[in-house]
Amino acid sequence: GRAVFEEAFTALGYAKNISPGHQAVFFDKKLRMWEEQKKNIEKNMFRALSNEEFKIYVQPKYAVAGNDCRSGEALVRWVSGDLGFIIPEQFIPLFEKNGFIVEIDFFVLTSIFKTLQRQLRENRRVYPISVNQSRATVAYPGYLERLQTVMEQYPIPLEYVQLEITESAMEGGGPEFLRLLAALRNMGFSIALDDFGSGYSSLSSLRSLPVDTLKIDKEFLRESDTSERSRTIIKNIVNMSKDLGITVVCEGVETEDQLLFLAKIGCDYAQGYYCAKPMPLSEYEGEYLRIPG
Ligand code: C2E
Ligand code: MG
Ligand code: MG
Repeated sequence: GRAVFEEAFTALGYAKNISPGHQAVFFDKKLRMWEEQKKNIEKNMFRALSNEEFKIYVQPKYAVAGNDCRSGEALVRWVSGDLGFIIPEQFIPLFEKNGFIVEIDFFVLTSIFKTLQRQLRENRRVYPISVNQSRATVAYPGYLERLQTVMEQYPIPLEYVQLEITESAMEGGGPEFLRLLAALRNMGFSIALDDFGSGYSSLSSLRSLPVDTLKIDKEFLRESDTSERSRTIIKNIVNMSKDLGITVVCEGVETEDQLLFLAKIGCDYAQGYYCAKPMPLSEYEGEYLRIPG
């Protein structure tokens, strides 16, 4: 059905400009390859985790005003012995469906706790790091207990950890979900609303959700090059966030002009290829967290 096609469109990178009629034959073949790839992914995922095929990359977030790195985002990569390099667009949505995302999210979270603890001990400059938490992860019943276990295993000040939850994950979030977010903040985590503006509930979510940071979806900045409307929307999200005491990160900064625009409107942080690409953790530490002296 339709859902199958939508999943394949996204995984194969067709999302925005598919013309099915034109590419029917080609697409049919691709679709069968994708069905095969899905089976292989699900067959290999457990072994991949124990074989350490999942790697943590970090993308710096730059303070727009000083044009320098102030924090990072952890992004998972899968370098598979059997299947090669698999992009997150392929495996994340699958794992969100089959539940394996909980294991991935905890793998990333635990690694980041461990890393931050080491960095703090090494007495280097340490920046906070955000980790992505899927809806399936935060909604799973043992979530808070498991989080507690990680915190006890690697005790660090929680001001160094931010949890990124996508706006769509919040959609339809009932009172239980709100209580969970409040609990996370009470524990000391800061919460970022990821891909802000990509769903349909943006403004109403702000009314009720306890969040510290908004990450404006990268589509807005991409469109801002040609669309006055998109520039106006970004500008107003930034202004509104200031009034609400919320920090703003703009995603997908690819050009100097885009960074200059963000500086002009007073956006706090920029994340994108123009500032820095996601890189292996060791490279991030070497480049940004040099030990003084
Ligand atoms: P996200 O959390 O919104 O992460 C930002 C994505 O934008 C990353 O894609 C990053 O590489 C990409 N990006 C950064 N700068 C630019 C730019 O200038 N232009 C463009 N076009 N893209 C840029 P990535 O690493 O492929 O990850 C895609 C998504 O997969 C993430 O989006 C996140 O939703 C999900 N993801 C990645 N790692 C994890 C994880 O450990 N757990 C969960 N639950 N989701 C994850
Ligand atoms: Mg994110
Ligand atoms: Mg995002």
